[in-house]
Amino acid sequence: MHILVLNVGSSSLKFQLIATDETSIAQAADRRLARGHFERIGGEAIVALSAAGGPTTKTAVQLRDHAAAVEYLIAWLTSGESGAPISRVADIEAVGHRVVHGGERFTQSVRVDDKVWGAIEDLIDLAPLHNPHNLRGIAAARAVLGAGVPQVAVFDTAFHHTLPEIAYLYAIPYQFYRRYGVRRYGFHGTSHRYIAWRYRQLTGTTRDATKIITLHLGNGASACAIVGGNSADTSMGFTPLEGLVMGTRSGDLDPAIIDFIGEKEGMAPREVDAMLNKQSGLLGVSGLTADMRELLAEESEHADRRARLAIELFAYRVKKYLGAYLAGMNGADAIIFAGGIGENSPDVRSRICKDMDWLGMRLDEGKNAGLAGGEGRFDADGSRVALWVIPTDEELLIARDTWRVVTGHDLRS
Ligand code: ADP
Repeated sequence: MHILVLNVGSSSLKFQLIATDETSIAQAADRRLARGHFERIGGEAIVALSAAGGPTTKTAVQLRDHAAAVEYLIAWLTSGESGAPISRVADIEAVGHRVVHGGERFTQSVRVDDKVWGAIEDLIDLAPLHNPHNLRGIAAARAVLGAGVPQVAVFDTAFHHTLPEIAYLYAIPYQFYRRYGVRRYGFHGTSHRYIAWRYRQLTGTTRDATKIITLHLGNGASACAIVGGNSADTSMGFTPLEGLVMGTRSGDLDPAIIDFIGEKEGMAPREVDAMLNKQSGLLGVSGLTADMRELLAEESEHADRRARLAIELFAYRVKKYLGAYLAGMNGADAIIFAGGIGENSPDVRSRICKDMDWLGMRLDEGKNAGLAGGEGRFDADGSRVALWVIPTDEELLIARDTWRVVTGHDLRS
């Protein structure tokens, strides 16, 4: 089945065309037929397109909205010049959409009908920066492909629906949970779920026996404690702001700081919130950049003190979460690194894992250094916990979930 995977942001759209046909996920033979992204939709958009394994072509195109972008994309996919083996719009059999917030309502992926659409709309209150754009993507795909083509929503929050109350409740008056749904939802769920599935596949572990910590360390970053195959705790909270230090997000902080800075700087709470989301984290501490690779270069080439501080703060926060989760889940069999930083930076992995020998964690520097971009294990002999790098692949999981929803197969894996 040819599935178009869409991830729509305010002025962006990322896509992959994936063929997935197998009836068993364990034997799945998935083929990437095309991928690309659109930036600055709404004006002169930058469009980067590439067919399976081929070079990326970049062009500037006037695209007034997301519907125009989807139209352009479908025209390219079916044109023959894309190299994708589809020639008609009808060859796209389903569309899988990344939807950020599923609230408590959506615990798994679902086909979008009017009721589901309304429910995603109701959740805009909880995710005003994301859900409206995700809906725009669904509307655009429906308009271009027709109502007969199934649209499936795959939620970032869904994997975390198994969090126990003690992990998802905040210790504030209970009525705020009841009245407004103020609780930890967690995000990056599709990524954590993919990594856990791939770990099981690589190690032959059963779902029920899966006891691991997954670290998605990219521009956004989060940790997830997975017990019995289920999310038992995760570091992002009511919004993606909580938890680890990120590219531009602060992660954990004392909420009293919001009012204090607001008073001192004459900023409204909304402005402080924007500062915590967009000007903090690696960028805020270093005063240079949100990009980990650039910070590592600054540190090694110019011994920049604040670049180093930002990297160390980032690593220390991850360490603290590992400690907390290892305590909360009574140990883990493996810790798995993913995301742009987790997959590509042996240096950051090493800083996170060093001096954790009291916990029984020992890394093999040679194996660690050899793992940049690939999949593999880097713990030293005798380590009580296995250390892995497993590149994440949210698009693939979205494609498979879409296939399973459309064909009526079990979604639990
Ligand atoms: P997003 O969360 O936007 O998908 P990514 O997962 O692509 O982001 O991660 C982006 C981060 O990964 C950036 O901070 C980037 O500098 C970092 N990164 C990518 N490659 C490397 C590398 N070789 N060494 C260190 N950091 C890297």
